[in-house]
Amino acid sequence: MTTPDGLGHTVRVGQLAAPPVESAAGAAAPRAVPGAAPSTAPTAGASGLGGVPQPPSSPVPAALAHAAAGPRYWLAQQPVEAPAVAAPTTPPSTPPSGFNVEAVRRDFPQLHREVNGRPLVWLDNGATTLKPRQVVEAVAEHYSMGTSNVHRGAHSLAKQATQVYEEGRQAAADLLGTQDQGEIVFVRGTTEAVNLVAQSWGRANLGVGDEILVSAAEHHSNLVPWQLIAAERRARIRPIPLLPDGQLDQDAYRDLLGSRTKLVALTHASNVLGTVPPVAEMTALAHRYGAKVLIDGAQAVSHFPVDVTALDADFYAFSGHKIFAPTGIGVLFGKRELLEAMPPWQGGGNMIDSVSFTETTYAPIPHRLEAGTGHIAGVAGLRAALHYLAGLDRAAATAYEEQLTNYAMAALATVPGLRLIGQAPGKIGALTFLVAGTDPIALAGALDQQGIAVRAGHHCAQPALASFGLQSAVRASLALYNTVQDVDALVAALHELQSQ
Ligand code: PLP
Repeated sequence: MTTPDGLGHTVRVGQLAAPPVESAAGAAAPRAVPGAAPSTAPTAGASGLGGVPQPPSSPVPAALAHAAAGPRYWLAQQPVEAPAVAAPTTPPSTPPSGFNVEAVRRDFPQLHREVNGRPLVWLDNGATTLKPRQVVEAVAEHYSMGTSNVHRGAHSLAKQATQVYEEGRQAAADLLGTQDQGEIVFVRGTTEAVNLVAQSWGRANLGVGDEILVSAAEHHSNLVPWQLIAAERRARIRPIPLLPDGQLDQDAYRDLLGSRTKLVALTHASNVLGTVPPVAEMTALAHRYGAKVLIDGAQAVSHFPVDVTALDADFYAFSGHKIFAPTGIGVLFGKRELLEAMPPWQGGGNMIDSVSFTETTYAPIPHRLEAGTGHIAGVAGLRAALHYLAGLDRAAATAYEEQLTNYAMAALATVPGLRLIGQAPGKIGALTFLVAGTDPIALAGALDQQGIAVRAGHHCAQPALASFGLQSAVRASLALYNTVQDVDALVAALHELQSQ
């Protein structure tokens, strides 16, 4: 069967329906991996890099491990070369117990299709993640059998839809580690969450000369909304600069904090550098100055467990589509006292208590901040995705991803002329790179011809790239269903392209 893919290619659709196998998530305990399958368990030099030089297994030389001791206020200086790609850490050797990547892969139908005549290698997870069949089925179920609006209406289907909707809210509260469902506001995604805080909390709390600290690693969606409200309130944005390895400069951060600081906007994981800043420590510091902290968890939540209570985050945002759920649905967490004090941002149905021409009163949180009909099918999908994730051994999944990231960094280092941007210790698998003599967009196009989906461009993080003197780069981004074979395919293709 062939279908047009919208890109002018003919796409051979492979196995679109997942084989009838046990799911990786859910009640069944994860299966043991018989004989340490190579897809999860390459040993140094044992996995097929298919003619590609094997990543050496020597430990990272201390001097190269990372260059945290770089110059301060680096952003303000001329962009400098990122340090050489760190020598490889030990590639994954044994699959962490409790995580069976092959079982997880069987739940994701799209992983079993072909693109341009090749098996799809999906390395564009930073842009969006693929969906397990449980999510697809939940959305289909809502539209085929469960369609109804929520909250209003006495009929059975309204009650059922409302139950699913509020269970989705509970699943988001569980994911983020809050006991209080009122602290979970449904939004379209991270972008809308930040805009909501900027337009509601920001308009009420920012004044002339107040300062908003924004890290230079932020996605535009955690910068531009602050620029908009800062311009209106005559407040000031101050960037927290980066160090050459992609870490946030903590000395600069301490110097920037002050009595004028009203808000700190921080990524929990950079979509371009992979950096995972010490957000708990940074939040505690901000609180000493009475500043609030908004954490952008768009790239964090699918990679490692998050606990907003332990972080003491004031606001935390994520997008459903980056955590195996549909597009168009996301979550803003806010501390109850902050959400309760926030004026409504948008007005309409759902968010009111009573309306008249003389006085309108508002519903309690979270509904007061959720004007209009929500994305009900999206919440059904989000609920399914979060239940799916909760059925996995998350610690094992995180350990697996960390090992795969180390393996990928080591393997990429074997490609002649490749420069990896962002090597902060503990980074997620957002692997942004340039290959000498090749244009990033052209390189991504050439990889696509081999069925390998990566992203090229500015990744909506122009200040982060500018810190490295760049405007554009290629990004391969990993998720928990990626394998060593995926990385090998990318690296082999890069070697081949370099040799042409
Ligand atoms: N923040 C980060 C770190 C991201 O990577 C993205 C999307 O790539 C966003 C925010 C924006 O997410 P959305 O477009 O789903 O609102």
